[in-house]
Amino acid sequence: MVSVANILKNTKETLFSFEVLPPLRGKSIEQIYKTIDQLMEFKPAFIEVTTHRSDYTYKEIQPGQYKRVEERLRPGTVAIAYAIKQKYGVPVVPHVICSGYSQQETEYELMDLSFLDMKDLLVLRGDKSKQDSKFIPKEGGLRYASELCEQVSRFNAGHLLYGEQREVADERPFSFGVAGYPEKHEEAMNMAADLRALKRKVELGAQYVVTQMFFDNNKYFRFVDRCREAGIDVPIVPGLKPLGTLNHLTTLPRTFRIEFPDELVEKLEECKTNEDAKAVGTEWCIKQCRELMEHNVPCLHFYTMNAAAQVAEIMRKVRS
Ligand code: FAD
Repeated sequence: MVSVANILKNTKETLFSFEVLPPLRGKSIEQIYKTIDQLMEFKPAFIEVTTHRSDYTYKEIQPGQYKRVEERLRPGTVAIAYAIKQKYGVPVVPHVICSGYSQQETEYELMDLSFLDMKDLLVLRGDKSKQDSKFIPKEGGLRYASELCEQVSRFNAGHLLYGEQREVADERPFSFGVAGYPEKHEEAMNMAADLRALKRKVELGAQYVVTQMFFDNNKYFRFVDRCREAGIDVPIVPGLKPLGTLNHLTTLPRTFRIEFPDELVEKLEECKTNEDAKAVGTEWCIKQCRELMEHNVPCLHFYTMNAAAQVAEIMRKVRS
């Protein structure tokens, strides 16, 4: 199978891709299949599967008595990614994160993925723990996505932790993308510093970038220009999220540190119901997609997050 990086590099048309989240602990994989089933008619070039660290929660073990336990609310990325690949025959990109993992645990995950011949990754630092005010690596873990890029590249070259060697029989080593932020990552001191961090990830082997969601295409275009000026010459895939509820109007800017453009805000201020917000969100996303396609972006990448039907409606209009 051709790598996602090569698909993106060589495409002459704007492709379509999307991200799914592993189901909540105890829920069935069928709900992911239902999401994917709704989107297969648009022939996704690849599907990404997110990874979620464990967090501390309090469980009531007896009435009034609570115990602090560490649990993963969405486990199963590797197995889900493989199941999707087998069922649909499309390239699947599991996310590999530093957050909540030691380097050794990551190495085991890379081994699992390698045995399964899953050779496309998105390499990320991952979200901080909900309990912490800043990102704290796990003991024996990594601080930045760039360090994880290095670990993957060392693994590709046959080097394991603690000086051991791996039999390198891979026909195709891991190839990977990384995250980029058209509106700057929240912790970066400024855009120039964030771009230097992104460039470092590319120098350490990243072959494409997937962006954080944005609602103002000009921010994406400016970001691409600045990346090119900085010498980052890999494909930069725009990440898109259609607004679907009134709640999104406050949660998305706060959670993802993004701003809505004035024209969109004016439309959203008129919305009284979730249906109103969804209608505005759908129209806005269609407009974004059409303009991005006019600029020959390599791919439209959707954060589906329970919005498969809305993404399908958007893609139907965009492709018509
Ligand atoms: P990094 O590239 O490590 O950057 C983090 C911050 O550190 C930035 O501010 C950067 O400028 C700075 N920095 C980097 N290197 C250095 C250095 N050497 N010195 C000083 N500063 C430095 N989160 C999840 O938990 N699971 C997922 O599956 C997931 N998928 C995502 C997919 C996409 C496309 C995107 C855009 C984000 C995703 N996230 C996910 C969220 C992401 O992990 C967070 O935004 C996280 O805070 C940063 O990750 P990163 O890989 O960009 O980190």
